[in-house]
This record gives sequence, C-alpha cells and structure tokens, in this order.
Amino acid sequence: MHAKRDQSWQPQPFLVSMARRNLPLLLFLALAAGGMLAVYFFFQSNGGAATAAAASVPGEDGALSAAIFKKIPAKPVLQRFAQSPGPERIVLIAGHRGHDAGAVCEDGLTEAAVNQLIAEKVYTRLRAANVRVDVYDEFDPRLQGFSGTALVSLHADSCDAIGDHATGFKISGSSRTDSSRLSTCVESAYAQATGLLFHANTITPDMTDYHAFREIADGVPAIILETGFLNLDREMLTTNADVPAQAIADGIFCFLEGE
Ligand SMILES: [Zn+2]
Repeated sequence: MHAKRDQSWQPQPFLVSMARRNLPLLLFLALAAGGMLAVYFFFQSNGGAATAAAASVPGEDGALSAAIFKKIPAKPVLQRFAQSPGPERIVLIAGHRGHDAGAVCEDGLTEAAVNQLIAEKVYTRLRAANVRVDVYDEFDPRLQGFSGTALVSLHADSCDAIGDHATGFKISGSSRTDSSRLSTCVESAYAQATGLLFHANTITPDMTDYHAFREIADGVPAIILETGFLNLDREMLTTNADVPAQAIADGIFCFLEGE
C-alpha cells in the first residue's frame, strides 16, 4: 500500500517546478474552465428540458411550446345553427275549393266540403301550436313559386258505391323534391289514428303529377293526401273529422320535428 502510493506520487521535477512558478495562472485557468463548464451545463440542461417539453407535451404552458401548441378547452362542436322561433310555413290546399266540387255524393255531399272541413281543423291545430299556416284554394295564385316548409293538399276519394275495397287513404309525394319524410310522417300518423289502410293501388297520375307540385318552388316537400272514400269512410270524414284532422296535424308535427 505505502509502496504503491509512493509510486504514484513520484515527483516530476520539471512539471512541478513549472506548476509552482505559474500557480496563479493555473488557478485562474482552472476557475475559468470550471465557470465555463458550469455555465454550459446550466443552460444546456435547461434548454434540453424545454425542448423535450415542447416536443412531448403539447399544450404545456411553457414559453417554447406556447407558440406551437395552444390549449383548447374540450367542448363539443355544434354542427347545427340554433333554430330561430317559428320559421316554419305550412300551406294546406283545401282540394277543389275555388274551382269545382270534386267528387259528389247522391245526397249532395261534396268532396270540396269534406276537404274544407278537414283543412280548417288541421289549420286550427297547427295555429294552436304556433305554426304559421295558410289554407289555399286548389288553383290558388299564391302557389306559383311558393317557398315554404311544406305543402299538404287535402282531397278525398269517390262517393260511388264501388264495392268493399273502396276504403282507405292514399298519399303521393312530389317527384320534384324529396318528400319522403313528410310522406312517411303523415302516412304513419294517419294510419295509426284512423285505422284506415294505405290504398296504394289506386294512385293515379292526377296524384303523382299533381299540378301544385309543378307550381311551387323546387325544394319544398309536398304531398297530396286522399283522406278516404266519401262512401265507406264518410262517417269518419264528416262527423268524426277531428280524427283525420288530428292525424294530419300530428304527421306535420312529426315532419317539423325533423327539420
Ligand atoms: Zn279531389
């Protein structure tokens, strides 16, 4: 042990004498080197940490990350605009009104009268729900270019005694504007409330190419509804007209809820 230690401390006369002569210079160099190393490591460690934070922790409120990353509060993005109150505008056509009587029964009951009765009742229900609604004549000049939420034309079928199958209702939607949702809403509400069957096999070109579909503006959903047959469905269309009227109003409400 002692021998080894003595060996490592073997004096080297030239270097030792040099060091002794230049001790103040050596001390200065040592202090300067230590100071520079301290400064280097101080800033290097700080800079390294900030860079790492900016790269790995987006949104951290550090000076380096602020310019690149910004904290955004987590909240859902709303895609729809808030609805302003009462923008809906519904037009009902009281079928044949102002033009002719439509189908006529032997005792004088006319389709036009039935259509008018039901249209008035639907109108009352929509107004009570604060929906803007008008009842137009069959060939009302206001139909030209009408731009609103929906058009529903009310008609009824023949009063002829043409057998047991002459009962039920029909709906045809405009082929110019997608009216399927309006159609589906009214159809399901009407079938449920009235118990009538959907009478698809007697839909005529008068319905599918209905004149009002061509007159109103593109983009307005429109349907024509045959509320029932004046013969077999007469009671429901006259004395119980509140039932089909409520069903039509409910169908329109269903449609408006989806708008
Ligand atoms: Zn008609």
